[in-house]
Amino acid sequence: MENGGLSVVAVRKMKLTPKAIIVQKFGRNAQFTVDEVQDVVQNGCPGLAIPQKGPCLYRCSLQLPEFSVVSETFKKKKDAEQSAAEKALEKLGIDPSPNVPSAEEAWDKLIASVKHLFSNEFLSSQSPLRGHFIAALRRDGDLYGSVPASVIAVCDSKLANLCKLINPKVESSHLLVLTYIMRAATRLSEFVVTSEGQLSIWRKDPYPPEIKESSIIQQSESPDSICIEAIHIPSSLEMAVHPVTLNVSSTGYYLDVIARNLDQTDGNKILVSRTIGKASSEMRLYFAAPKSYLLDLSSDLPNVEEVVDFEGSLNPRASYLYGQDIYGDAILASIGYTRKSEGLFHEDITLQSYYRMLIHLTPSGVYKLSREAILTAELPMAFTTRTNWRGSFPREMLFMFCRQHWLSEPVFSTCSNSLKESSESSRFYEKSAALESAETGKECTSGGGTAASDNVRCEVKIFSKSRDPILECSPKEFYKKQNESIENASLKVLSWLNAYFKDPDIPLEKLNNLVGALDIQCYPQNFFKKFSSYRFIHNVQQRKMGEKLLQANSINTLNAIPEHGIYCLSIGGPDSGIYPSNGCLSFISYSVSLVIEGETMKELLESREEFEFEMGTGAVIPQVEVVTAQMSVGQSACFCKELPPQELILAAADDSARTFSLLSSRACCLEYHITLLRVTEPPEDRMEQALFSPPLSKQRVEYALQHIKESCATTLVDFGCGSGSLLDSLLDYPTALEKIVGVDISQKSLSRAAKIIHSKLSKKLDAAVPCTDVKSAVLFDGSITVFDSRLHGFDIGTCLEVIEHMEEDEASQFGNIVLSSFRPRILIVSTPNYEYNAILQKSSSTIQEDDPDEKTQLQSCKFRNHDHKFEWTRDQFNCWATELAARHNYSVEFSGVGGSGDREPGFASQIAVFRSRTPPEEDDLLKDGDSAHHYKVIWEWDGNGLSRSSL
Ligand code: SAH
Ligand code: MG
Repeated sequence: MENGGLSVVAVRKMKLTPKAIIVQKFGRNAQFTVDEVQDVVQNGCPGLAIPQKGPCLYRCSLQLPEFSVVSETFKKKKDAEQSAAEKALEKLGIDPSPNVPSAEEAWDKLIASVKHLFSNEFLSSQSPLRGHFIAALRRDGDLYGSVPASVIAVCDSKLANLCKLINPKVESSHLLVLTYIMRAATRLSEFVVTSEGQLSIWRKDPYPPEIKESSIIQQSESPDSICIEAIHIPSSLEMAVHPVTLNVSSTGYYLDVIARNLDQTDGNKILVSRTIGKASSEMRLYFAAPKSYLLDLSSDLPNVEEVVDFEGSLNPRASYLYGQDIYGDAILASIGYTRKSEGLFHEDITLQSYYRMLIHLTPSGVYKLSREAILTAELPMAFTTRTNWRGSFPREMLFMFCRQHWLSEPVFSTCSNSLKESSESSRFYEKSAALESAETGKECTSGGGTAASDNVRCEVKIFSKSRDPILECSPKEFYKKQNESIENASLKVLSWLNAYFKDPDIPLEKLNNLVGALDIQCYPQNFFKKFSSYRFIHNVQQRKMGEKLLQANSINTLNAIPEHGIYCLSIGGPDSGIYPSNGCLSFISYSVSLVIEGETMKELLESREEFEFEMGTGAVIPQVEVVTAQMSVGQSACFCKELPPQELILAAADDSARTFSLLSSRACCLEYHITLLRVTEPPEDRMEQALFSPPLSKQRVEYALQHIKESCATTLVDFGCGSGSLLDSLLDYPTALEKIVGVDISQKSLSRAAKIIHSKLSKKLDAAVPCTDVKSAVLFDGSITVFDSRLHGFDIGTCLEVIEHMEEDEASQFGNIVLSSFRPRILIVSTPNYEYNAILQKSSSTIQEDDPDEKTQLQSCKFRNHDHKFEWTRDQFNCWATELAARHNYSVEFSGVGGSGDREPGFASQIAVFRSRTPPEEDDLLKDGDSAHHYKVIWEWDGNGLSRSSL
């Protein structure tokens, strides 16, 4: 790509996509039809016998009047559409990538475009600007026919794009567009008139009457007059933001009405922002043009600088909303002409929506809004699993944050450390990846990303629009999946930003100490340049809030947990014995009210009939988490807490005006009512990760590894290998293993295992010093309760966390078959220790009850995983294994991982190690009838990098 400068950004936006060109040319006569195609993926893993169901793919057919074309298949619908459009353009002989005009050419085009706006044809065009031109013809007196330049600047993106080509600074100082349009108008003195000190343009000759008539008639289908609610944002922070009503008469021009509300004579003196808020919104900020903005229109191009010497004071709240400086009072209104709507489009803006927009600019605000729980939800501290996360995802939120604050898109780079010699980077975010590699010159490899052990790391970088670095986050943690690493890195950046927004006065060093583990590097100069004005507004909010703190001494401190800001706590209802624990999802119903001290009245602010969150991650405000952790299912709680920042309360309140007056006149606090409806147990692997370090699964692998090393085993079979996590990990350690085999009945797991092991072995093959001697690897599809002679007499067999997934009689059947027919020299079997569940499921309750009856507690425990058919106590497991060993001439020893064997209730995962007592020579004799092949080879590796499937 080009040298990454600003002009490139502009160019990219300038260029029309193939689809846009087709639509522009053919309009409704171009019909795009997208179909789903289910494809069998061929490139997944060579030699894999199972047809792998690929992701859903799309194909687009494009029907044009003369011919039709069909695209290739794509993962995304829009790519399929673009490809079809591209093919059509090829057939039509249209070059989809016209040369980007130079600054001079852009300037000429701009002049021509402005001229076109004042042509006769334009009055019957589809442009949103057309409405303004017609409204101008209804303006009175001197204003008759005059079109404010500010609407031309913001309503026509084509003009703005041309301006960007003339001067890249337009990207960050949008008001410059206005300057260029006024300048263009002065070059069109034959057609239009501008006059000194006016930000408006007139057409020189009147429109022919018939054109004028027909346009106005077309336009005036709109009803009589309209009243819309808008928001007045005074520049002085001493004055409250308040609603205003805009009365626009059927013949009036709304910009003139807004102007009068800002104490200006008419709309020609008003500046208009680009739209803010949602993509489809017409919400804009309106503010008076400072006198010094009236430009010296004669100076030459292209070195126009933005006029900076605004008189009047900075409007911090409006600037904050807009992300660029705004001076003087402002009005926030949602009104305008759009391509879609006939006539004037308008919507009311309430104070509540203003406050929602305000908090939407902070990451925790985005999260709270996405959860519809402004006073209850909180941005979680950790991203655990996709299934447990509720609300917007961190990566998504980070993109949104950057967009809202006029920053470049975040740049992610992930790297996997599965090879010791070279760390391999894989880039997945195409657009940013290009920028990134242009800068660092690093080679990037795509694909991969599927690794079984925790070995993906992700870095994020945030840049300003002009590519100055602002923030960098380089987490040390590794994750299993690329996606997880990305979400976690994004979350760290968001959490750091949140900490800053909570207290923008905090010195950077202190902030970094406070949030130490976030691995953030901030570029203070660039950061504060960007965020200094936010600092200002957040201060104000903090100060105001401070005055309203709940007075701890005026209320009952007996039932309080002051260190958590919880007062007047009461929990009621019978104890069901089912408590939420870390990692589980708690389902609550709740309501939050504003209560006024000394009065019985309450103002309900927020309530939800069902709201779920993951315990132990900070996904709700600390008070709700602490209280919920003390409740059992079915109980209700009530407590009070101090007021949060005012903007949150007002964003939650339906009746903002009333709430506002309550807040400003009286001492109040928030009262929470919570009922714990139910809890869902955390998934097993999540619990193992959260509660054990290293995670229990890793401890099991290490346990097996130790036996593999001690026994100098050269052959290994993993019974119930699942996705191959053990086999994959073993390849990372030097052992004597030469042949490894996995068996499972789940095809889905096996195909995942095949991919992972295949990629690991391929990499090892390329590595200079391979650290494994494994020459052969096979994956079989089959049940371990059935014998297959190809797996007879291995040095070691493992069966980790598998038997509990079978019925108990099948587990016994497996035990008999494995020790009688497969006869590995050593067999390691692990399974959950049921007695340990009480600890897992109780672990997070902050208060330990004074030991209720042990037995009932045990009975209330569920299995660790819904797929478990049983979970055994230590006694049950001992019985099973001892009896089995004796029957088949094996010895057995018991051990485990997680917890301790000496202390109650024993290990978290219990393990039996069986050793054959029969001399190997005798064991090697296979009985004839046993030479059976019941398993199907799913994937096989022969040590030379060749893999195949044999059916
Ligand atoms: N051993 C792996 C997977 C444990 S999950 C690990 O530690 O990560 C249990 C696995 O047992 C699942 O993959 C399931 O498909 C497999 N399984 C259950 N019954 C089986 C049977 N009869 N034969 C083979 N595999 C079985
Ligand atoms: Mg299990």
